[in-house]
Amino acid sequence: MVGDVGIGGDASVSVQSMTNTDTRDIKATIKQIKDLEAVGCHIIRVAVTDIESCKAIKKIKKEISIPLISDVQFDYKLAIESVKNGADCLRINPGNIGSKEKIQEVVKICKERNVPIRIGANSGSIKKEYLEKYNGVNENSMVYSALENVRILEDMNYDNIKISLKASNVDLTIKSHEKMAELVDYPFHLGITEAGPPWQGTIKSAVGIGSLLSMGLGDTIRVSLTGDPVEEVKVGREILKSLDLLKDGVEIVSCPTCARTQIDLINIVEEALVRLDHIKKPLKVAIMGCVVNGPGEAKEADIGIAGGKGSGIIFKKGKVIKKVREENLLDELIKEIEKL
Ligand code: SF4
Repeated sequence: MVGDVGIGGDASVSVQSMTNTDTRDIKATIKQIKDLEAVGCHIIRVAVTDIESCKAIKKIKKEISIPLISDVQFDYKLAIESVKNGADCLRINPGNIGSKEKIQEVVKICKERNVPIRIGANSGSIKKEYLEKYNGVNENSMVYSALENVRILEDMNYDNIKISLKASNVDLTIKSHEKMAELVDYPFHLGITEAGPPWQGTIKSAVGIGSLLSMGLGDTIRVSLTGDPVEEVKVGREILKSLDLLKDGVEIVSCPTCARTQIDLINIVEEALVRLDHIKKPLKVAIMGCVVNGPGEAKEADIGIAGGKGSGIIFKKGKVIKKVREENLLDELIKEIEKL
């Protein structure tokens, strides 16, 4: 459990993001987290760089309603302070903390407060010994480097952990998880790291995270985009929705348009996306270009419209329920959806 969010086992796959505000700027960080909550972020991670950031966690936690992960590098004291200030999970690699005594202190407080630790490997920071032993960056050096961290905690009788294997290469990410899944049974935090700007990063993340999820691997996901973290959450949720791992809100099924299209389909779809954003129940809505093929092709949709010349139809589960003028198509569709 990360706070009240289950990870692994029968729990649903959750969507995480990370703030890009200065954690010490409490007001800005709370605002960003609330924006992320509003689009369906399940867990938030904040970077902790000093003791002031640790203290900020306490104040931030009072204002937000999702669990918070403290992301710490190297400094065990910051890890301990984060937990004391209410962090629901730590992201730190024990191999980077230093002496056994220091790791033990972190483990002690995590045990006392039932706080899990995310550990793992990043393709950019694999230890030299693993790179040499396994001939560079590959699934073996990734997995065995991460396993070193797993074993350190297991030797301290601590197994409240989840594993991440981050690479910006999709193939390496997939192979590393496949290998790790053969060796251990811990939950996985999935992500394609440094995936890039939103358009490219969305595709890489969808392919990488989506492939792993469709193999049954992965328990919580974070899409990394160079941009607004709100977009990360939206993309993460769409990835889950596309695999039926998350059911909520409207999924628009729309045709690519062709010579038979007789309505301004592209603009209707754009407008529908905005006007249907408030619908939170899971609903498949079809917006199709022609009455000849539209209703049949979109039979699986709960409700939909198909355009004709100057008019169109509204259909439910492939059956026509109404004929309306083109300019009223979207208004009528929304009225029918609100009745459902
Ligand atoms: Fe063309 Fe009609 Fe198919 Fe849309 S639904 S692509 S308009 S045939």
